[in-house]
Amino acid sequence: MAGHRPRIVVIGAGIIGSAITYNLAIRGADVLLVDEGPRPGSGVTGRAFGWVNVINGTPGESSYKLWREAVSEYRHLKAALPAAFSRVRSGSLFWRATAQETEQFAGLRKSAGENVDLLRRNGIQELEPRLRRIPDLAVLSHDDLALDSAKLAGDLVDAAVVAGASTRFGATVSAIDTMNGRVARIRLGDDAMAADVVVMAAGAGVRALAERLGLRTGLTTSPALLLRYACSRPIISHILRGPRLEIRQASDNTLIVAKSYVENGNENRPWLIGEDTLTVMKDELDLPDEVVLKSAEIGDRPVFADGLPRLGFFPEMGGLYVAAGHPGVILAPLLGRLTAEELLDGQRSELLGPSL
Ligand SMILES: Cc1cc2nc3c(=O)[nH]c(=O)nc-3n(C[C@H](O)[C@H](O)[C@H](O)COP(=O)(O)OP(=O)(O)OC[C@H]3O[C@@H](n4cnc5c(N)ncnc54)[C@H](O)[C@@H]3O)c2cc1C
Repeated sequence: MAGHRPRIVVIGAGIIGSAITYNLAIRGADVLLVDEGPRPGSGVTGRAFGWVNVINGTPGESSYKLWREAVSEYRHLKAALPAAFSRVRSGSLFWRATAQETEQFAGLRKSAGENVDLLRRNGIQELEPRLRRIPDLAVLSHDDLALDSAKLAGDLVDAAVVAGASTRFGATVSAIDTMNGRVARIRLGDDAMAADVVVMAAGAGVRALAERLGLRTGLTTSPALLLRYACSRPIISHILRGPRLEIRQASDNTLIVAKSYVENGNENRPWLIGEDTLTVMKDELDLPDEVVLKSAEIGDRPVFADGLPRLGFFPEMGGLYVAAGHPGVILAPLLGRLTAEELLDGQRSELLGPSL
């Protein structure tokens, strides 16, 4: 039908679905965003550490180019939505167990063209005077960002709504109905809504949605722990990552620590890890006595075995698109733009490979 704008339904208002909805809406698409949570960022996005960086990528590996592009994409997003970045801090200090390892790491990063400097003890102390155990060397990565990813998801959704997107929160997609090999509508309990294209950006929920259609995604989950500590005054100004601690301070002074997590069946384990970590924090940083653990939450990170995200149409089902992967906060603005280009222009970026 001439002039028919396809109705695109995005399932999931985490950082990835929110970025996709924003990119589609600002380009004039007819887009509906649906999430079972009460607000954007209710899934694992609300438990992310929020570090935007390339340092976890390895120059030369296939994911590295994607990560570099993803971090650059944040510059465009910041220019388009400056208010969303008004309280975002930049810069991280990273060091390894030995000065030699840190120096090697810095050399690798510099030769890949990253905006990093190698600092010695006095430079580190000047930047972070409350560090008790100052390493001999640390890498200062200037362009890294530390952001509240649930807030950013909310800002993206707000901007998408201003541009014409619709939203439904508190609504679980129970099924995706198909007709003649294409998606036709989404089911929300007894309710149903027509869809020409369905974007599954449901994080860990992608697997169940796809399996109900008999499709396999290869998506698994990897748990990690987010610890938040109440603190009333500024302590550190960069993200700090050493062998014992990965920590940043939010704009309300909350200290935030991320840790990998292995289940052991003890339901108090996250809280116990949080208390042990406070001992490490006091050893590494000059902290006031008032600092106390206020939350210890596990988040299931959606991951694929090869470490790459999945973005594209399922070959088996017309109109069904998947957008998921790790690290989602870093990748979201780029995946949002690339999804809009594929859905609206039929153009698939070479960064993504030929198809799913
Ligand atoms: C401790 C920790 C630290 C992390 N640190 C970082 C970091 O520093 N940098 C980084 O890039 N990444 C980090 N991550 C990973 C990051 O959080 C995830 O990659 C990212 O948030 C995934 O976003 P998403 O939008 O895919 O998923 P989600 O945020 O989970 O969003 C999916 C949404 O879909 C909704 N949904 C699911 N199923 C349905 C359904 N059937 N119907 C309706 N709605 C549905 C959910 O409610 C949810 O809101 C960290 C994760 C953890 C746990």
